[in-house]
Amino acid sequence: MAFPDDIGVQFVCPKCRTPVAREPEAFVCQDATCRLKYDIVDDIPRFLVDEAEQLSPERWQQIMNAQDGESGPDAT
Ligand SMILES: [Zn+2]
Repeated sequence: MAFPDDIGVQFVCPKCRTPVAREPEAFVCQDATCRLKYDIVDDIPRFLVDEAEQLSPERWQQIMNAQDGESGPDAT
């Protein structure tokens, strides 16, 4: 069973308590200075600061942009 997309629960980053964004295989902290990525392993999110990967500002921004609006600027 895959980890459901709509889990009805808002996880927060264990480091900075900012809500995390859902990615297909990870959760990403939405704080611009934290930017930690928590992998989902065997359908279980691993909210471990020690094992989290800090994304580059560019990569993080891409993910945040994708989270924002599904329609995007091309929708006009
Ligand atoms: Zn964080």
